[in-house]
Amino acid sequence: MSAPNIETIVSLSKRRGFVYPASEIYGGLGSSWDYGPLGVELANNIKNSWWRWMVYERDDIEGLDSSIIQNRLVWKYSGHEQTFHDPLVDCKSCKSRFRADKLLDEFGSKEAQEGRHHLFVEPANFGTTQPPQENWLQEIRFPCPTCGEVDWTESRPFNLMFRTTVGAASSDEDGSALAYLRPETAQGIFINFANVLNTSRRKLPFGIAQIGKAFRNEVTPGNFIFRTREFEQMEMEYFVRPDDAPHVHQEWIDGFERWIASLGISANNLKLYEQTKEVLAHYSERTVDILYRYFPEREDEEKQWDELMGIANRTDYDLRVHSKKPEDAEGKRINPDSTEDLSYFDTATNERFYPYVIEPAIGVNRTLLAVLMDAYTEKTNEKGETRVILKLTPEMAPIKVAVLPLAKNKPEIVEMARKIKKELQHSMRAVYDDTGGIGKLYARQDEIGTPFCVTVDHESLEDNAVTVRDRDTWEQKRVGVDQLPEYLQKRLD
Ligand code: ATP
Repeated sequence: MSAPNIETIVSLSKRRGFVYPASEIYGGLGSSWDYGPLGVELANNIKNSWWRWMVYERDDIEGLDSSIIQNRLVWKYSGHEQTFHDPLVDCKSCKSRFRADKLLDEFGSKEAQEGRHHLFVEPANFGTTQPPQENWLQEIRFPCPTCGEVDWTESRPFNLMFRTTVGAASSDEDGSALAYLRPETAQGIFINFANVLNTSRRKLPFGIAQIGKAFRNEVTPGNFIFRTREFEQMEMEYFVRPDDAPHVHQEWIDGFERWIASLGISANNLKLYEQTKEVLAHYSERTVDILYRYFPEREDEEKQWDELMGIANRTDYDLRVHSKKPEDAEGKRINPDSTEDLSYFDTATNERFYPYVIEPAIGVNRTLLAVLMDAYTEKTNEKGETRVILKLTPEMAPIKVAVLPLAKNKPEIVEMARKIKKELQHSMRAVYDDTGGIGKLYARQDEIGTPFCVTVDHESLEDNAVTVRDRDTWEQKRVGVDQLPEYLQKRLD
């Protein structure tokens, strides 16, 4: 079983402290979310798992943490200033605003879908199919999804980068102070290619991994934490010889299918999507997305899926555009501002070239949502009550063990339980809880995915043993306090 819809996870998250609406006491801020005590643990578990798998368990990948605000030229030469746009349209009647390309995808009738083929121009950039400037929605008499009227503005490009100014004396109009919040972590990696190559004395193939916040002023954010304006990415750029790129690309696609499964996500809720030529970003030779079934409630099976991550063969595009040397057809430098050449010299073959890049890019937030949805289960107890059990893997569980005293008015039991919690906290995330009857405490831990509860009872004072209860089977086992850390660690592993 998995969650029947995102709404179920929204209410569980709020109720138990995974995710809260941001700025809630001031009425909130559209599509912004704060991660609560359990959400921050789960996000950390996801990031740690990725980092360990990516950096520690391999010998060919280095880590990096680059700035969120970079020199504006980074975004000029990466192409983001010119082309990181979504096509925007407004309904003049009800003032609703939409992403033109998504409108037809989500609401299009068959007629409109067919209309799309002549109305959209050649693929623009960054995967966004841009409609032409004329009023094409009007032309196909496409009704506004909010009010049903057909009264559209022309479609216009809207740059998704958040702008800011740098420096105390700067004003909003001061172009020289203009800077952006990064819309992806990848560019921070490309501009540090030579730094990492030289300081770590690497040879191809090798990769650079980074986890960090990214910002996009999305036109239509929504679906809880699926699409937000501030989010976190885990990106790795793997540099290879150009002729190795196709098979290395395939290895990373297979690798990520395995890693995502290791988070406890069922294969039934995942599928691959090969991006077509029409939607492929201008820098990409091939991109494969891994989709998750975020919308199981939708009747049309095709519409149940959306992107969890993308794995792109970005060719040598990025290293070239940030390099000082490459020239255009007329012999003019493509980048007159860069002070560095990001090519690679292969000492074995005496060749100099720009490496190709394979990029697996995945969002922390979309992963967290998929992990929660997939772990969600309901179970009925002997009294006929339905309980929520979050069947998270031990690695993902925010809390690994809860230590519970059976009688909180008995000081010896409380003291023993607190002592056990202290012992366990050295090796795992453990909590002590005495805020309810034992049945209620078990139910609360099941709902947040804690794999084990340890109960200290009257007998424990005599036999120095405790009851360990399993979240999934509700089976109970007596374990000596001396063996407890080892016993739990073994089962968690
Ligand atoms: P989409 O098509 O859904 O807008 P994208 O293809 O533009 O996503 P990428 O630029 O490939 O996304 O970014 C890599 C990953 O970052 C995505 O697969 C997703 O997991 C995450 N991501 C991108 N945009 C957002 C967002 N607005 N909110 C949350 N996560 C995001």
